[in-house]
Amino acid sequence: MKTVGIIGAGQMGSGIAQTVAAHGIDVLLADIDLATAEKAKAGIAKGLDRLVAKEKIDQAAANDTLARITPVADYAPMGEAELIVEAATEKEAIKQTIFEKAGKVLGEGAIMASNTSSIPITRMANHAPDPARFIGLHFFNPVPVMGLIEVIPGLATAQETTDRMTAFAQSLGKEVVLSQDEPGFVVNRILLPMINEAVFVLGQGTASIADIDKGCRLGLNHPMGPLQLADFVGLDTCLEIVRVLHDTTGDSKYRPAPLLVKYVEAGWLGRKTGRGFYDYSGEEPVPTR
Ligand code: NAD
Repeated sequence: MKTVGIIGAGQMGSGIAQTVAAHGIDVLLADIDLATAEKAKAGIAKGLDRLVAKEKIDQAAANDTLARITPVADYAPMGEAELIVEAATEKEAIKQTIFEKAGKVLGEGAIMASNTSSIPITRMANHAPDPARFIGLHFFNPVPVMGLIEVIPGLATAQETTDRMTAFAQSLGKEVVLSQDEPGFVVNRILLPMINEAVFVLGQGTASIADIDKGCRLGLNHPMGPLQLADFVGLDTCLEIVRVLHDTTGDSKYRPAPLLVKYVEAGWLGRKTGRGFYDYSGEEPVPTR
């Protein structure tokens, strides 16, 4: 693969851009405007500098990776991409508009993929130019570090599309899990009910943030607790996933914890806004309850 277009340059789009570029592929990076895409590239540059300082990569590799990422103002240049990955906000209406706009430039034979955490692939494929060339490609955060990609064919996805995306994911050095297009796919179907339950436990006053996370770290041998992980994912994204699980299954066991809704309404979205269940304004995260 020579060129990949990425639409949505937040935490995931930036991580995908960095990983793809680090594997020798040119990246065209778009967001709501050029300034936002450029800001994302500056964020990637900072992250690469940190990797150089820690001697994880050398300066030449960092320079090469950065040079392969081109922020773009609109989708027209993506006509030359063999793959366009949508990694915008977890709202179906936003994604639909992107598929329709980007679909106008998608090259013949090129694939359009969504990094959605939970929205059904089969339904979104209706807004892409060719459902046979539409697929879910679910990266994990932080993308350069996490070793997994879920590949999710929708009902109309061609086997060739699934095969090409599996090979692409493996070429990035990731392991692949194939999931059918069911709510939450594999990992989030299991993870989000746990995060949501942790917020119920917090809301009911059973324990503090620090103790809930400590309990899961030490009692379940998880590397981080569910509330800290929720902050990493983004509480808005967590809430959207829980809502999709609830709406698509109709099962009340997936109803969002009221405190999760409140945090999102307060704009406390986790690390990306500097405050979620933890406050990130100081050197170390401090629990807020
Ligand atoms: P984020 O809030 O960090 O970034 C979203 C980006 O989308 C922002 O930069 C925003 O400006 C941009 N955007 C919004 N509307 C747009 C539009 N119309 N056109 C172009 N760009 C637009 O969110 P994120 O965590 O990067 O999540 C992005 C996607 O990745 C979501 O679908 C999410 O479910 C999925 N995802 C997230 C995680 C995670 O751990 N955060 C993991 C896997 C997948």
